[in-house]
Amino acid sequence: MVSYKDLGLVNTREMFAKAIKGGYAIPAFNFNNMEQLQAIVKAAVETKSPVILQVSKGARNYANQTLLRYMAEGAVEYAKELGCEKPQIVLHLDHGDSFELCKSCVDMGFSSVMIDGSHLPYEENVALTKKVVEYAHQYDVTVEGELGVLAGVEDEVSAEHHTYTNPEEVIDFATRTGCDSLAISIGTSHGAYKFKPEQCHVDPATGRLVPPPLAFEVLDAVMEKLPGFPIVLHGSSSVPQEYVDMINQYGGKLEAAIGIPEDELRKAAKSAVCKINIDSDSRLAMTAAVRKVFAEKPAEFDPRKYLGPAREEMEKLYKHKIINVLGSNDKL
Ligand SMILES: [Zn+2]
Repeated sequence: MVSYKDLGLVNTREMFAKAIKGGYAIPAFNFNNMEQLQAIVKAAVETKSPVILQVSKGARNYANQTLLRYMAEGAVEYAKELGCEKPQIVLHLDHGDSFELCKSCVDMGFSSVMIDGSHLPYEENVALTKKVVEYAHQYDVTVEGELGVLAGVEDEVSAEHHTYTNPEEVIDFATRTGCDSLAISIGTSHGAYKFKPEQCHVDPATGRLVPPPLAFEVLDAVMEKLPGFPIVLHGSSSVPQEYVDMINQYGGKLEAAIGIPEDELRKAAKSAVCKINIDSDSRLAMTAAVRKVFAEKPAEFDPRKYLGPAREEMEKLYKHKIINVLGSNDKL
């Protein structure tokens, strides 16, 4: 049993309370490799932002859960080395799908876990989430639950259609499970193909596809039922078109990749939404930078020469999200 507190990590409780009060949201960035982690930590330190490092099932399969935990411990030390005296870093399990997995993460030093029972019948979701909360809270680890289903595909989480969160269920769910935050479904979705072109309209000024708006009425109803309760948005990448264009320009083939417009996320960040998950945008930044090097310098074979620029591009993206979208800068 390792306590996250001994690793210098923090849970989400105080972080979320401050974010709701201050009208901003904490970035939750997924990581799978060293370059991504370095970029996240550097961006957070340089902008003085708290940050949530997320580990998904795909990341655990790719990089190993134990290794990722030690990398997060290293991230705290790295942040200090970069000049941050008191880093506010959470190590969070993204989309935990069983009690056993959540328990293993709590036991190895994660400071926060998500138990995603959103695909289960309501009463089973309540029972599973409650079980995880009871275990995690013994060690002061915070728990995120989910109500409502997001569409899209990301790693091993996928669903064909979304089901908006039913605001009538949120009080009962939060009270009976004791969860610390709640992921809701208001039209965001996983992956880089969030919408079909036929769901969108064309912006006459830019010629780009504009997706249907998020269901802010659902968010408002949830906030009315649970005033001040921390709300989480998954699947909130914006799929920057400059990265899509860059990838396609250098030999890629991304067709009609569409994300959530940043002004909608900006609006959400000012509300009770205090954690916004971003994964695909960093994948796009990394891929765009690597493709550019491969296309422009075909003789290059030192991985540092293409992973280095990829790291720089990701850092730029993370800083942009922190400062211009979530507003979590200058909070340390
Ligand atoms: Zn998710």
